[in-house]
Amino acid sequence: MLTQTELLQAEGMSRLGTETAFEVLARAAELERQGRDIINLGIGQPDFKTPPHVVEAAIKALQDGHHGYTPSQGILELREVVAADIHARRGVEVSPANICIMPGGKPTMFFAILMFGAKGSEIMYPDPGFPIYRSMIEYTGAKPVPIVLREENHFAFSAEEVLAQITPATRLIIVNSPGNPTGGVTPKEEVEKLVAGLPDHVALMSDEIYSRMLYDGREHVSFLSYPEIRDRLIVLDGWSKTYAMTGWRLGYSVWPDQLIDGVTRLCVNNHSCVNAPTQYAGIAALQGPQEEAEAMMQAFNERRRVIVPLLNQLPGFRCLDPGGAFYAFPNISGTGMSGKELQTRLLEEAGIATVAGTSFGLHAEDFIRFSYANSVENIREAVRRMGELLR
Ligand code: PLP
Repeated sequence: MLTQTELLQAEGMSRLGTETAFEVLARAAELERQGRDIINLGIGQPDFKTPPHVVEAAIKALQDGHHGYTPSQGILELREVVAADIHARRGVEVSPANICIMPGGKPTMFFAILMFGAKGSEIMYPDPGFPIYRSMIEYTGAKPVPIVLREENHFAFSAEEVLAQITPATRLIIVNSPGNPTGGVTPKEEVEKLVAGLPDHVALMSDEIYSRMLYDGREHVSFLSYPEIRDRLIVLDGWSKTYAMTGWRLGYSVWPDQLIDGVTRLCVNNHSCVNAPTQYAGIAALQGPQEEAEAMMQAFNERRRVIVPLLNQLPGFRCLDPGGAFYAFPNISGTGMSGKELQTRLLEEAGIATVAGTSFGLHAEDFIRFSYANSVENIREAVRRMGELLR
């Protein structure tokens, strides 16, 4: 056998984190291979199919010969359709020149954090929040500064707290509403306080990937509505959640004039362009019938109304009503177990995949995330099994 010389990797690699939901998914698949009946409430992806007209648009694009490279920023036709969609849904004008088409939602955060992250700089991020924010901040060597999202505040940020943490080294603030993993929605007053106090030297990245997933008549408050910060604002959105397109890898972001060339260069260096037929599918999704996307949201709402009261009946569980996305994030401190312990026991003993709060930050030890992207029948069965385990 060859003796392997240790390869000296760049030091940032040792700080790169991960997204535990994918590990849970792998373990759940392994248990299924062993013949176990697993109910997956772990991974954050819609359990619906991509609408058929979207699939057909991609097939037609390939048949029409759209198989080559495209501009790195994305084809103009798609950027125009995105601009029209932003206008229709958020009521604001955005030039297609400021839009960048991405292979998913994630690359926008990856590139934004690469742009601003370096030793000596500070980046704020929501905690609990999407794990890639902190992972990438640490990778760059920047100091991660958590914005603590509290249960008593319905998991919305406090603008006062965010503004109080800004220092001369702060380069970027990341916010996310509706939020993963909490389903929390930040009220307009807090958004406006943050906008009013945001210093000129700080950029803001608003992750609005769940902008179409709100309940009980809530309206999405987009940071794009505030012209006074448009010169410092990056908005992340995409198709993954709204159109059940997680595996297609398609997203978009809006960038200010001073950053759009930089991010386009990052795209050229990284992926050249998003694959061509997927971009045509993206046009069809935004321009075509919206019935499937709306029906999916209705189904999520129905499931939310089932899962939240059921979770609240479990001994030691306390669960807020999520205002958006498709996650329930109960406090489980009353069970006497940590979120991590409960995650393991639920998967190994009851066959239910979930993700512990600690996967989303330093401030969520007592919580566990349930993705209710699963049928009402499976949700009821999962809660029944949990009841057995806990009682
Ligand atoms: N932002 C948040 C808050 C998310 O929850 C996710 C996915 O779970 C993403 C971004 C990434 O989306 P995509 O799958 O399009 O990369």
